[in-house]
Amino acid sequence: MALNFDQALEKYEPTLGLEVHVELNTHSKMFCGCATEFGAEPNTQTCPVCLGLPGALPAVNGKAIESTILIGLALNCSIAPYSRFARKNYFYPDMPKNFQTSQYDEPICINGYLDVEIDTEEGKKTFRVEIERVHMEEDTGKSLHVGGSTGRIHGAEYSLLDYNRAGIPLVEIVTKMIPGTDKYAPQVARAYVTELRDILRSLGVSDVKMEQGSLRCDANVSLSPRGSGILGTRSETKNVNSLRSVERAIFGEIERQATRLESGERIIQETRHFLEESGLTRAGRSKEQAEDYRYFPEPDLVPVTPSAEWVEELRATLPEKPSTRRKRLQEAWAVPDKEMTSLINAELLDVVEETVNLGADPSKARSWWLGEISRLANEKDVSATSLVTASQVAEIIALISSGELTDKLARQVVEGVVNGEGTPREVIDARGLKVVSDDSALMAAIESAIAAQPDTAERVRGGNIPAAGALIGAVMKATGGQADAAKVRELLLKHLGQA
Ligand code: ZN
Ligand code: MN
Repeated sequence: MALNFDQALEKYEPTLGLEVHVELNTHSKMFCGCATEFGAEPNTQTCPVCLGLPGALPAVNGKAIESTILIGLALNCSIAPYSRFARKNYFYPDMPKNFQTSQYDEPICINGYLDVEIDTEEGKKTFRVEIERVHMEEDTGKSLHVGGSTGRIHGAEYSLLDYNRAGIPLVEIVTKMIPGTDKYAPQVARAYVTELRDILRSLGVSDVKMEQGSLRCDANVSLSPRGSGILGTRSETKNVNSLRSVERAIFGEIERQATRLESGERIIQETRHFLEESGLTRAGRSKEQAEDYRYFPEPDLVPVTPSAEWVEELRATLPEKPSTRRKRLQEAWAVPDKEMTSLINAELLDVVEETVNLGADPSKARSWWLGEISRLANEKDVSATSLVTASQVAEIIALISSGELTDKLARQVVEGVVNGEGTPREVIDARGLKVVSDDSALMAAIESAIAAQPDTAERVRGGNIPAAGALIGAVMKATGGQADAAKVRELLLKHLGQA
């Protein structure tokens, strides 16, 4: 019988483990001077070192060491005064040396933690995710399987290899086992990867694009019968490449493992692949034990020995933590929790901050980005920030405050900018979207409204102020919404002897 998530959680407790690989954004590779740009012609960014030709000697990229130390410090790790590289031996066609230069028993950063906050029914909850290690290694090349229908090797006629990616600096960040997340396991995993991505971005060490593979997550899950204290066998879902998929993959694995255990089957220690379409995972290879890799110290590289002074210098350059920044902005802008969550989930925090820094009122900036602009973005299925810039939005908000635009006209200006009709100014001129604030033009419209509704005008003259609404509405309609309603009200009441 298949168990759903809630049934699975009634019987079992999940334990998580997360491994994240991040490609650093250094200009050259980890052990040679080859360029690292994404998307270059295949095999144009290679040399004897990253192709593993006999006799070629590697040298460590100093910038990569610096970036890794920064990551370790941001994750509250200790930085080892002495660490070494090791050869991790396995055969893979996209790995030209037949070993990956990595770190094994002597990683550069150890014993850190990252606190992540999630929203639950009982309010915000913080989970501490302990970090076991952060180490340096190198990426592999890429295989392209040609001729099959799926792009996988199965059914392909032949395969092509591109070694441009081989040797790009990778940092692997490994958590300790994360117990106690219970039904929040999928959310905690997602929050951890999100927070980690934001930290890496704030450090400027990677472009952290999950969809391009510069940040990849392997999610380990195991279940233990509730209250038993017995740790189950884990599975490892490889290379999950979006935040939402991290959450879905763990959700799906908890259901799959619980269902297997309920029907008396064992969980096999193996790698699994996440299937984007179904949210399920499919078996990969059975997982090697560490000894299968025949790790041994890399004889061609000297140990990494950062001085304490250098580490402290780097610590002094750490930027504000993303979580601290979020709290600071939320306070400064007086944003309710729920709206803050919407801003963060929509990835609009940066652009709203930019808009505010350009002089816009925080609440106006938020409501334009979360409201009208997000609505247009959803319609077009693109990101809000690809439609308009912070400075255009700030300009439009300024035009509203100065009375040159009403909210309604401003929406048309945004629409014009989004449709490529030019800058806000150009759209206003081309579409004739100026607010009618010319008193004589407004008075003419007011007089015809009064002429059309003499009884209403009489009631207003008699002191029935709310009745003026119908006349103001008529004026707004006659001016195509381009009049300033407050101004119309003022002129009208004055004209009828009520101001
Ligand atoms: Zn190279
Ligand atoms: Mn690795």
